[in-house]
Amino acid sequence: MQKVKLPISVDPVRAAQSGTELEAIIQKALLRRLAESTISIQSDISTKFTFEIDRQKLRIFHGKASVAVELICQRCNEPMIYQCEAEFTYCPVHNQEQENNLPDVYEPIYYDENGEVNLHEIVEDELILTLPQISKHAIEDCEESKFELTFGEIEEEEEQRPNPFEALAQLKRK
Ligand SMILES: [Zn+2]
Repeated sequence: MQKVKLPISVDPVRAAQSGTELEAIIQKALLRRLAESTISIQSDISTKFTFEIDRQKLRIFHGKASVAVELICQRCNEPMIYQCEAEFTYCPVHNQEQENNLPDVYEPIYYDENGEVNLHEIVEDELILTLPQISKHAIEDCEESKFELTFGEIEEEEEQRPNPFEALAQLKRK
């Protein structure tokens, strides 16, 4: 199924008044900063936005974004897949005063000159924030620790397993 593309920016007031819900993708090629922060982005980014007016009559929106990216494992220097999952709630503001008065649960986001907010930038910022400072494979998946963890087991297996060359050598001896 062809997914809808997320508009770059929206008028959050109008969207809140009509209770807009968006489920859409951002093409991965559009998120340059995320691409620069990773080795690669594995797919287009899935996003979901809900616009609403809260009890204090603030126009707010909730969003989710997810995508898998490739990072370098700091332990073994091999690539690893990392799943980014961002979840956020923003309240658009016009000035510092509005920003200062926001309830803590909301992130402020400034309206642009057209009275809109840039959803692509928000998604990109939020995804970059989910990246670990030090990326590491899960211990059982890491090349570096696999060696340490299983070294003993491999030796045991080799002893138990019949050696095909040994069998051949015995045949030849007969
Ligand atoms: Zn690793």
